[in-house]
Amino acid sequence: MTDADTGSAAETSDGADSNGVVHLVGSGPGDPELLTLKARRLIDEADVVLHDKLPGPEIIETIPEGKREDVGKRAGGERTSQEYTNERLVELAREGNQVVRLKGGDPFVFGRGGEEAAHLAEHGVEFRVVPGVTSALAVPALAGIPATHREHASSVSVVTGHEDPTKEESAVDWNALAATGGTIVVLMGVGKLPEYTAALREAGMRGEVPVALVERASRPDERVVTGTLETITRVADREDVEPPAVTVIGEVAGERDRVREFLRR
Ligand code: SAH
Repeated sequence: MTDADTGSAAETSDGADSNGVVHLVGSGPGDPELLTLKARRLIDEADVVLHDKLPGPEIIETIPEGKREDVGKRAGGERTSQEYTNERLVELAREGNQVVRLKGGDPFVFGRGGEEAAHLAEHGVEFRVVPGVTSALAVPALAGIPATHREHASSVSVVTGHEDPTKEESAVDWNALAATGGTIVVLMGVGKLPEYTAALREAGMRGEVPVALVERASRPDERVVTGTLETITRVADREDVEPPAVTVIGEVAGERDRVREFLRR
Protein backbone atom coordinates (compact mmCIF):
# COMPACT_ATOMS: atom_id res chain seq x y z
CA MET A 1 0.00 0.00 0.00
CA THR A 2 1.13 3.50 -0.67
CA ASP A 3 1.92 6.10 1.92
CA ALA A 4 -0.30 8.85 0.62
CA ASP A 5 -0.04 12.17 2.40
CA THR A 6 -3.20 12.35 4.44
CA GLY A 7 -3.12 15.97 5.51
CA SER A 8 -2.10 17.00 8.97
CA ALA A 9 -4.12 17.44 12.10
CA ALA A 10 -3.36 21.16 11.95
CA GLU A 11 -5.74 21.54 9.00
CA THR A 12 -8.72 20.60 11.08
CA SER A 13 -7.47 21.89 14.39
CA ASP A 14 -8.87 25.19 15.55
CA GLY A 15 -7.89 24.72 19.14
CA ALA A 16 -11.43 24.67 20.43
CA ASP A 17 -14.08 22.09 20.72
CA SER A 18 -14.80 21.32 17.04
CA ASN A 19 -15.94 18.04 15.58
CA GLY A 20 -13.26 15.76 16.89
CA VAL A 21 -14.28 12.17 17.34
CA VAL A 22 -12.54 9.07 18.63
CA HIS A 23 -12.99 5.69 16.98
CA LEU A 24 -12.14 2.75 19.21
CA VAL A 25 -11.12 0.32 16.50
CA GLY A 26 -10.22 -3.36 16.65
CA SER A 27 -7.42 -4.45 14.33
CA GLY A 28 -7.95 -8.22 14.43
CA PRO A 29 -5.14 -10.67 15.17
CA GLY A 30 -2.45 -9.10 12.97
CA ASP A 31 -2.96 -9.97 9.32
CA PRO A 32 -3.86 -6.69 7.54
CA GLU A 33 -6.46 -8.61 5.53
CA LEU A 34 -8.27 -9.42 8.77
CA LEU A 35 -8.91 -5.75 9.44
CA THR A 36 -12.55 -4.91 8.77
CA LEU A 37 -13.27 -2.66 5.79
CA LYS A 38 -14.43 -0.01 8.27
CA ALA A 39 -11.23 -0.23 10.30
CA ARG A 40 -9.17 0.17 7.12
CA ARG A 41 -11.18 3.19 5.98
CA LEU A 42 -11.08 4.91 9.37
CA ILE A 43 -7.33 4.37 9.66
CA ASP A 44 -6.83 5.84 6.20
CA GLU A 45 -9.06 8.84 6.96
CA ALA A 46 -7.76 9.51 10.48
CA ASP A 47 -5.67 12.53 11.44
CA VAL A 48 -4.03 10.58 14.23
CA VAL A 49 -3.81 6.87 15.07
CA LEU A 50 -2.95 5.94 18.65
CA HIS A 51 -1.78 2.35 18.85
CA ASP A 52 0.22 -0.02 20.97
CA LYS A 53 2.23 -3.06 19.86
CA LEU A 54 -0.56 -5.60 19.69
CA PRO A 55 -1.94 -4.76 16.22
CA GLY A 56 1.46 -5.97 14.99
CA PRO A 57 4.04 -4.55 12.58
CA GLU A 58 2.26 -5.70 9.40
CA ILE A 59 -0.67 -3.43 10.19
CA ILE A 60 1.16 -0.60 11.95
CA GLU A 61 3.55 -0.17 9.02
CA THR A 62 0.61 0.52 6.69
CA ILE A 63 -0.11 3.70 8.67
CA PRO A 64 1.89 6.74 7.55
CA GLU A 65 4.49 7.44 10.23
CA GLY A 66 3.48 11.08 10.46
CA LYS A 67 0.10 10.30 11.90
CA ARG A 68 0.76 7.43 14.24
CA GLU A 69 1.50 7.66 17.94
CA ASP A 70 2.75 4.65 19.86
CA VAL A 71 1.16 4.66 23.29
CA GLY A 72 2.41 1.17 24.07
CA LYS A 73 5.94 2.10 25.04
CA ARG A 74 7.66 5.33 25.87
CA ALA A 75 11.31 6.21 25.47
CA GLY A 76 13.22 4.14 27.98
CA GLY A 77 10.92 1.17 27.41
CA GLU A 78 8.44 2.10 30.12
CA ARG A 79 4.79 1.52 29.47
CA THR A 80 2.66 4.52 28.77
CA SER A 81 0.07 4.80 31.51
CA GLN A 82 -3.59 4.29 30.74
CA GLU A 83 -4.19 7.76 32.19
CA TYR A 84 -1.89 9.29 29.60
CA THR A 85 -3.68 7.48 26.77
CA ASN A 86 -7.09 8.52 28.12
CA GLU A 87 -6.03 12.15 28.36
CA ARG A 88 -4.34 12.16 24.98
CA LEU A 89 -7.54 10.88 23.34
CA VAL A 90 -9.56 13.70 24.88
CA GLU A 91 -6.95 16.30 23.98
CA LEU A 92 -6.72 15.19 20.32
CA ALA A 93 -10.50 15.07 19.93
CA ARG A 94 -10.88 18.53 21.45
CA GLU A 95 -8.40 19.85 18.91
CA GLY A 96 -10.87 18.68 16.27
CA ASN A 97 -9.03 15.57 15.10
CA GLN A 98 -10.48 12.40 13.69
CA VAL A 99 -8.76 10.00 16.04
CA VAL A 100 -8.40 6.24 15.72
CA ARG A 101 -7.51 4.36 18.86
CA LEU A 102 -6.33 1.10 17.31
CA LYS A 103 -6.33 -2.01 19.46
CA GLY A 104 -5.42 -5.60 18.76
CA GLY A 105 -8.34 -7.97 18.21
CA ASP A 106 -11.59 -6.46 19.44
CA PRO A 107 -11.37 -3.24 21.45
CA PHE A 108 -13.81 -4.47 24.12
CA VAL A 109 -12.25 -7.88 24.78
CA PHE A 110 -9.47 -7.47 27.35
CA GLY A 111 -8.48 -4.30 25.57
CA ARG A 112 -9.40 -1.63 28.10
CA GLY A 113 -11.73 -0.26 25.45
CA GLY A 114 -14.43 0.01 28.10
CA GLU A 115 -12.24 2.22 30.27
CA GLU A 116 -11.40 4.48 27.35
CA ALA A 117 -15.05 4.74 26.32
CA ALA A 118 -16.03 5.69 29.87
CA HIS A 119 -13.31 8.32 30.03
CA LEU A 120 -14.37 9.83 26.72
CA ALA A 121 -18.01 9.93 27.78
CA GLU A 122 -17.09 11.58 31.08
CA HIS A 123 -15.26 14.28 29.18
CA GLY A 124 -18.02 14.83 26.66
CA VAL A 125 -16.07 13.45 23.71
CA GLU A 126 -18.01 11.72 20.95
CA PHE A 127 -16.78 8.24 20.16
CA ARG A 128 -17.65 5.16 18.13
CA VAL A 129 -16.77 1.53 18.61
CA VAL A 130 -15.63 -0.52 15.64
CA PRO A 131 -15.52 -4.20 16.62
CA GLY A 132 -12.60 -6.28 15.48
CA VAL A 133 -11.94 -9.97 14.92
CA THR A 134 -11.04 -11.08 18.41
CA SER A 135 -8.02 -13.30 18.91
CA ALA A 136 -10.06 -15.30 21.41
CA LEU A 137 -11.90 -17.01 18.56
CA ALA A 138 -9.78 -16.21 15.52
CA VAL A 139 -6.47 -17.46 16.87
CA PRO A 140 -7.71 -21.00 17.59
CA ALA A 141 -9.49 -21.01 14.20
CA LEU A 142 -6.33 -20.02 12.36
CA ALA A 143 -4.60 -22.98 13.98
CA GLY A 144 -7.34 -25.35 12.83
CA ILE A 145 -8.99 -25.53 16.25
CA PRO A 146 -12.77 -25.06 16.37
CA ALA A 147 -13.79 -23.21 19.54
CA THR A 148 -16.89 -25.37 19.81
CA HIS A 149 -17.58 -28.80 18.38
CA ARG A 150 -20.73 -30.87 18.34
CA GLU A 151 -18.91 -33.87 19.84
CA HIS A 152 -16.52 -32.15 22.23
CA ALA A 153 -17.52 -28.72 23.43
CA SER A 154 -20.85 -26.97 23.78
CA SER A 155 -19.40 -23.86 25.36
CA VAL A 156 -16.32 -21.73 25.20
CA SER A 157 -15.00 -19.54 28.00
CA VAL A 158 -12.60 -16.70 27.36
CA VAL A 159 -10.49 -15.75 30.35
CA THR A 160 -7.42 -13.77 31.24
CA GLY A 161 -4.35 -15.65 32.41
CA HIS A 162 -2.90 -12.46 33.75
CA GLU A 163 -5.13 -11.09 36.42
CA ASP A 164 -5.19 -7.62 37.69
CA PRO A 165 -2.69 -7.89 40.56
CA THR A 166 -4.69 -5.38 42.61
CA LYS A 167 -7.56 -7.85 42.87
CA GLU A 168 -7.24 -9.63 46.19
CA GLU A 169 -8.59 -13.04 45.25
CA SER A 170 -8.43 -14.89 41.95
CA ALA A 171 -10.91 -13.15 39.67
CA VAL A 172 -11.06 -16.24 37.50
CA ASP A 173 -12.82 -19.24 39.01
CA TRP A 174 -10.81 -22.13 37.56
CA ASN A 175 -12.95 -24.70 39.37
CA ALA A 176 -16.06 -23.38 37.71
CA LEU A 177 -14.32 -23.30 34.33
CA ALA A 178 -13.20 -26.91 34.65
CA ALA A 179 -16.78 -27.87 35.51
CA THR A 180 -18.18 -26.46 32.26
CA GLY A 181 -16.58 -29.28 30.28
CA GLY A 182 -16.27 -26.81 27.42
CA THR A 183 -13.33 -25.13 25.73
CA ILE A 184 -11.21 -22.70 27.76
CA VAL A 185 -9.38 -19.97 25.85
CA VAL A 186 -6.80 -18.08 27.86
CA LEU A 187 -5.54 -14.71 26.68
CA MET A 188 -2.40 -13.18 28.16
CA GLY A 189 -1.65 -16.63 29.46
CA VAL A 190 2.01 -17.37 28.73
CA GLY A 191 3.54 -16.21 32.02
CA LYS A 192 1.11 -17.94 34.36
CA LEU A 193 0.71 -21.17 32.36
CA PRO A 194 2.09 -23.36 35.21
CA GLU A 195 -0.31 -21.81 37.73
CA TYR A 196 -3.56 -22.17 35.85
CA THR A 197 -2.85 -25.59 34.34
CA ALA A 198 -2.19 -26.76 37.90
CA ALA A 199 -5.39 -25.09 39.09
CA LEU A 200 -7.39 -26.90 36.40
CA ARG A 201 -5.87 -30.22 37.31
CA GLU A 202 -6.70 -29.63 40.95
CA ALA A 203 -10.21 -28.85 39.82
CA GLY A 204 -10.40 -32.36 38.43
CA MET A 205 -9.49 -31.92 34.76
CA ARG A 206 -7.61 -34.88 33.37
CA GLY A 207 -3.91 -34.56 32.62
CA GLU A 208 -4.48 -35.88 29.08
CA VAL A 209 -6.74 -33.03 28.01
CA PRO A 210 -5.17 -31.52 24.86
CA VAL A 211 -3.73 -28.01 25.06
CA ALA A 212 -2.47 -25.81 22.24
CA LEU A 213 -0.45 -22.62 22.45
CA VAL A 214 -0.86 -20.48 19.36
CA GLU A 215 1.75 -17.77 19.05
CA ARG A 216 1.47 -14.68 16.81
CA ALA A 217 -1.41 -16.15 14.81
CA SER A 218 -1.98 -14.72 11.32
CA ARG A 219 1.47 -13.15 11.32
CA PRO A 220 4.34 -14.38 9.16
CA ASP A 221 6.04 -16.05 12.13
CA GLU A 222 2.95 -17.79 13.53
CA ARG A 223 3.67 -20.95 15.52
CA VAL A 224 1.58 -23.64 17.21
CA VAL A 225 2.89 -25.69 20.10
CA THR A 226 0.81 -28.57 21.47
CA GLY A 227 0.75 -30.82 24.51
CA THR A 228 -1.60 -31.84 27.27
CA LEU A 229 -2.64 -30.22 30.51
CA GLU A 230 0.12 -32.23 32.12
CA THR A 231 2.93 -31.58 29.63
CA ILE A 232 2.24 -28.14 28.17
CA THR A 233 4.27 -26.13 30.69
CA ARG A 234 7.39 -28.14 29.93
CA VAL A 235 6.78 -27.97 26.20
CA ALA A 236 6.27 -24.19 26.36
CA ASP A 237 9.51 -23.78 28.29
CA ARG A 238 11.45 -25.93 25.87
CA GLU A 239 10.00 -24.16 22.83
CA ASP A 240 10.41 -20.76 24.43
CA VAL A 241 6.84 -19.65 23.75
CA GLU A 242 6.38 -15.90 24.05
CA PRO A 243 3.47 -13.47 24.06
CA PRO A 244 1.28 -12.78 22.24
CA ALA A 245 -0.08 -16.29 22.40
CA VAL A 246 -3.46 -17.86 23.07
CA THR A 247 -3.84 -21.02 25.14
CA VAL A 248 -6.62 -23.36 24.05
CA ILE A 249 -7.57 -26.01 26.59
CA GLY A 250 -10.02 -28.79 25.78
CA GLU A 251 -10.75 -31.70 23.51
CA VAL A 252 -11.12 -29.34 20.55
CA ALA A 253 -7.37 -28.67 20.70
CA GLY A 254 -6.91 -32.28 19.58
CA GLU A 255 -9.02 -31.65 16.47
CA ARG A 256 -6.06 -29.86 14.98
CA ASP A 257 -4.25 -33.15 14.52
CA ARG A 258 -7.09 -34.38 12.31
CA VAL A 259 -6.86 -31.46 9.92
CA ARG A 260 -3.37 -30.02 10.10
CA GLU A 261 -1.99 -31.87 7.11
CA PHE A 262 -4.49 -30.07 4.90
CA LEU A 263 -4.54 -26.76 6.73
CA ARG A 264 -3.10 -24.17 4.36
CA ARG A 265 -2.33 -20.64 5.31
N1 SAH B 1 -8.42 -7.18 22.49
C1 SAH B 1 -7.63 -8.33 22.11
C2 SAH B 1 -7.01 -9.02 23.30
C3 SAH B 1 -6.05 -8.16 24.09
S1 SAH B 1 -5.24 -9.03 25.36
C4 SAH B 1 -8.47 -9.29 21.27
O1 SAH B 1 -9.71 -9.16 21.21
O2 SAH B 1 -7.87 -10.16 20.61
C5 SAH B 1 -3.75 -9.52 24.54
C6 SAH B 1 -3.77 -11.01 24.28
O3 SAH B 1 -4.44 -11.31 23.07
C7 SAH B 1 -2.40 -11.61 24.10
O4 SAH B 1 -1.75 -11.84 25.33
C8 SAH B 1 -2.74 -12.90 23.41
O5 SAH B 1 -3.25 -13.83 24.33
C9 SAH B 1 -3.89 -12.48 22.52
N2 SAH B 1 -3.49 -12.21 21.11
C10 SAH B 1 -3.75 -11.10 20.41
N3 SAH B 1 -3.31 -11.22 19.14
C11 SAH B 1 -2.76 -12.44 19.04
C12 SAH B 1 -2.14 -13.16 17.97
N4 SAH B 1 -2.01 -12.66 16.75
N5 SAH B 1 -1.69 -14.41 18.23
C13 SAH B 1 -1.82 -14.96 19.44
N6 SAH B 1 -2.39 -14.32 20.48
C14 SAH B 1 -2.87 -13.07 20.29
